[in-house]
Amino acid sequence: MKYEKEQRGDTGCLVKAGNVCFGGKQLVLIAGPCAIESREFMLETATAVKEAGATMLRGGAFKPRTSPYEFQGLSFKGLEYLAEARELTGLPVVTEVMDTVDIAAVAEVADMVQVGSRNMHNYALLKSVGECGKPVLLKRGMCATIREFLCAAEYVLQGGCNDLVLCVRGIRTFEEEVRFTMDLAAVPLLKEQSWMPVMVDPSHGTGKLSLVPSMARAAVACGADGVMMEVHCHADQALCDGQQSASPEDFSKMVGEMRLVAEAVGRTV
Ligand code: PEP
Ligand code: MN
Repeated sequence: MKYEKEQRGDTGCLVKAGNVCFGGKQLVLIAGPCAIESREFMLETATAVKEAGATMLRGGAFKPRTSPYEFQGLSFKGLEYLAEARELTGLPVVTEVMDTVDIAAVAEVADMVQVGSRNMHNYALLKSVGECGKPVLLKRGMCATIREFLCAAEYVLQGGCNDLVLCVRGIRTFEEEVRFTMDLAAVPLLKEQSWMPVMVDPSHGTGKLSLVPSMARAAVACGADGVMMEVHCHADQALCDGQQSASPEDFSKMVGEMRLVAEAVGRTV
């Protein structure tokens, strides 16, 4: 399997996307709204997260929503706003692609292409994303085992992608107090079994804002190569995932807390 450490050879285990490097001493902090909702909100949030210490920007233009009647994202217009946010802040951007027909358009704008939890089992998409020439961020399916997750990664690697980063998010369990159960043991487990850097998304890890700061600290403590979290300047007006979105002030505080934990485990923020 290409995901095994022995197969990686001289390439090493670092993955670069834009000007950030995953898997090194310095943690990658990806922040931004769940969805790109307007030019104004995107640029305002991008400026605020940069100020607070983010090293990469996120925002969905194509949104995988549970109900077809919910906000589906601004699609191509959203990509334009995301590109503008990168110009403004200098931060590289990651955004999700849901359909093979959109890969070229997304890859043109994105520094890193995201495959979300719901598409982790979409093998046609995984193969094509692996061929797109851009670094890829692959999220764990909410009902996927570690082996299924690694096999999904294998599809991307088979497409020719050498720059793949995994992202752990919550999984479905019998627990009803949270939207998802944050399986942080997946971080050291994935690192034992593969060479890919591992990110943690504490926002989709729990679905509950009050739990995000502690899970972000724990992610750093258990060896994650960074975190990706949802931050919104006006979470009360968010069209998507407002209940788990941090304010820029919350995020800034979390960056300070993660920095302390990072120092304790020999990393930097
Ligand atoms: C996201 O990160 O934008 C997202 C939709 O997350 P997930 O695929 O983990 O649900
Ligand atoms: Mn979201």
